[in-house]
Amino acid sequence: MKPAPPKSLHDLGFEELTEVLAAGGVIPHHARTLWRALYRMDAQELREMDFLPPLKRWVDASVGEDKAFFLDAPDVVEEIRSSDGLTRKFLLRLRDGRMIETVLMGYDGRYTVCVSTQVGCAMGCVFCATGQMGFVRHLRPGEIVAQVLHARRVLKQAAPNKKLRNLVLMGMGEPLHNMDSVLHALDIISDTRGIGIGPSRIAISTVGVVPGIRRMAEENSPYRLAVSLHGSREEERAALVPVSGRWPLDTLIDACRDYGARTGKRIFFEWTLIDGENDSPATAERLAIMLEGVDAHINLIPLNPTRGYDGAASHAGHAFQKILRAAGFPCTFRQRRGIDVAAGCGMLKEDSRRSAS
Ligand code: SAH
Ligand code: SF4
Repeated sequence: MKPAPPKSLHDLGFEELTEVLAAGGVIPHHARTLWRALYRMDAQELREMDFLPPLKRWVDASVGEDKAFFLDAPDVVEEIRSSDGLTRKFLLRLRDGRMIETVLMGYDGRYTVCVSTQVGCAMGCVFCATGQMGFVRHLRPGEIVAQVLHARRVLKQAAPNKKLRNLVLMGMGEPLHNMDSVLHALDIISDTRGIGIGPSRIAISTVGVVPGIRRMAEENSPYRLAVSLHGSREEERAALVPVSGRWPLDTLIDACRDYGARTGKRIFFEWTLIDGENDSPATAERLAIMLEGVDAHINLIPLNPTRGYDGAASHAGHAFQKILRAAGFPCTFRQRRGIDVAAGCGMLKEDSRRSAS
């Protein structure tokens, strides 16, 4: 019989890890030690760790390239820093050669990592470099966890006293299209025995996958929700976000209202401002009416230019913001500190492909 294909240790939750060890005759106590080694101490070479003999024997027999388990440790193909040095963007190569992006952002001494959840994306938003790439595959939980570990490692070297406190799922891909893996990864990342990023400091950003939002509401999800809207009329939104045809605005806003009512949580709405497309005063006024009664924070994002889209950044952002504020909504511009390092979603990968061709 052919041996089972190797699995990533980073794919396993704490209970699964305990079961795997138990199946190898190792008592549960050692699961905690191994978990700490992986997620607190960030051991990259488990064989070098000073484990007690039963765990050491299991690691020697089971972990390694030719063994039952491996560790997710993507290669850094490229790293770019913003001119202020506070944003670092990594192009990471996965085991199968596919590339993803991870960004470490520092602002006011607080550090946030932005991770990818898929290679490419199936949602096809016209202005997004990842959408222009199409869908390649979902990431496994371990591939999501490994991005956080990488960012934490970089931060530890750059600023040893600082903690990585925040996580946003705003890199490549649509998190709610890969929901099971995403939620499993978030369980691992928020586990206080290990990495321990608090659920209230984790934001899932979605293009508006309604069944996913409904599931978050039903499960009373502890994570924050950000919804990328970009349009306050159906035609306006559908021109930018093709999946609006599948989950139209009224259905989406209903799901958001329900999520807000059930969880009592504020929702962040993301709005990429594009000249002449979705930046008029009338659009802002309609948005305010559409979101009436929703506990909403609106984040305005300046458009980052991409090769596959010829729209331009808006100059009307401040007027847009003013209307929403007058209607009582907190409304801010998303910090894009990394704009000089091609910090838009999927853009570093696009750049590297261009220079490779
Ligand atoms: N798929 C999820 C999360 C990843 S995209 C989502 O769409 O929400 C994260 C955010 O970046 C989204 O709000 C998206 O609209 C925005 N974005 C993507 N490409 C952009 C670009 N070229 N300029 C500005 N914002 C962009
Ligand atoms: Fe996918 Fe988000 Fe890009 Fe849309 S904006 S294509 S959902 S990654």
